[in-house]
Parts: sequence; C-alpha cells; structure tokens
Amino acid sequence: MSQVLLRQITKTFNGNPVIEDLNVTIPSGSFTVLVGPSGCGKSTTLRMIAGLEHPTSGDIYIGEEKVNQVEPGKRDIAMVFQNYALYPTMTVKENIEFGLKNRKVPKPERERLIAEVAEVVGLREYLNRKPGELSGGQRQRVALARAMVKKPKVFLMDEPLSNLDAQLRQQMRVELMELHKKLGATFIYVTHDQVEAMSMGDQIIIMNHGKVQQAASPMEVYHQPANRFVATFIGTPP
Ligand code: ADP
Ligand code: MG
Repeated sequence: MSQVLLRQITKTFNGNPVIEDLNVTIPSGSFTVLVGPSGCGKSTTLRMIAGLEHPTSGDIYIGEEKVNQVEPGKRDIAMVFQNYALYPTMTVKENIEFGLKNRKVPKPERERLIAEVAEVVGLREYLNRKPGELSGGQRQRVALARAMVKKPKVFLMDEPLSNLDAQLRQQMRVELMELHKKLGATFIYVTHDQVEAMSMGDQIIIMNHGKVQQAASPMEVYHQPANRFVATFIGTPP
C-alpha cells in the first residue's frame, strides 16, 4: 500500500501560518490533484510529502511508514518539477542515469531500466541529445523518465505542464493519465488550473489559504460543492 496521509499538518514560515490543520488521505493508486489559487500552499504541501520542507507540527505517512524523520532520498517518492530541473550539460541518458548511479545500481541494470523508461515516454531516439536540443514536451518526458526509473510508489508533480503550449499540454495530460494507469502508482499532481484538476483527477483536493476546502471526486465537487469558494473556483452553475 502506498497511500499518503497528512495528519494535523501545520507549517509556518517566519511565524506566518501557510498551512493550517491539514488532514488529507490520498488513496493508494489514485490520481489525486491538489488544486487552488496561487499562494494557497500547494507546493509547500507537496514539498513536505517529498521531505524538502518539514511540517511545523503534524505527521506524514507514506504507506505504513511515518516519514517525518526520513530524508527525501529515502522516501519512496519521485518528484517532477515545473522547470524540469534537468542537468543541461548531460545527455538525456546521463540525466536519467544520474540517480541510478548515485544509488549504485549496477551498469547492466541501469541500461535495462533506461531502455525501459525511454520506450514508455517515447525518448529512445533522443538518449544522446542534450536538454537544450529538445522541445518542451521532450524535456518534460525526460523529467518523467528520470522519476520513473526510480520505480517509486508515489509520484509528486508540481505544475509539470505549465511551461508547455496549450496543445502540447492537452496531449501531455492524456499521456500522464495513461502513464498513471500503466504504472499503477499513486500520483499527486499540483495545479492551479481547475479544468486540469477536474479532467485529470480521480480525487481532487481543493485548497484555499492553507486549508482544505473539499476533498472528493470531480463529480461530487461539481454537484455538491462544499462551500461558496469551491463552487466559484470550480465554476459550478448557480
Ligand atoms: P502555491 O504552490 O499554492 O502557489 P506555495 O506553497 O508556494 O503556494 O506558497 C504558500 C505560501 O507560503 C505563500 O504565501 C508563499 O509566499 C509562502 N512561502 C512558500 N515558501 C516559502 C519560504 N521558503 N519562505 C517563506 N514563505 C514561503
Ligand atoms: Mg506552487
């Protein structure tokens, strides 16, 4: 099981509360979208799950394990960033291989894993290129491949498509949903775009000002918005 639980999480930066009493259950194998306006605390929440930020109080569980004290590299997660965070001087292959080398995965196994993920994301022909020689969509696929090669149970994605043009974004949404089905992993996907949230998520968690406003299926959110904020944000007809 790779459900993610956030229990009574608060987070303050310099005394300012950014997350308050966050209680969230992210089901194992779900495609859960964290959505809300800019500044509501989505990235901070994701970064706490990744271990890149620490809650001021509260507990985080990944699967059965309480991970509060577990460093990012030892959590069963991989994160895909908005700016891709690729190494510009390395080839696609080296970018994907980097984390595997760090974890001392033997060469034949590295080769096998790289070939496997390159195939899944359609990068087989591009392994010897540098990121600067790729399109935005291809760079996004490299970032995905680099996450996948780790075989994490939980994928964390922070606005991964926001640098792509509208048409490519639409295509990548479909690809991500297919990838989710294929991998059977838990996807936690952050976006400020309510259309993206409603179309991609099987569960969506709507946040505002550091608090959860509603956590439910898109259908339920649409037909039974928990409050006026949710109704307005989602655009439920009056
Ligand atoms: P979102 O991803 O929903 O746009 P964030 O989680 O990035 O929101 O930020 C939530 C709030 O926390 C914002 O007001 C932001 O300015 C503040 N914040 C985020 N990171 C830091 C930080 N490292 N130091 C101080 N304030 C921060
Ligand atoms: Mg953010």
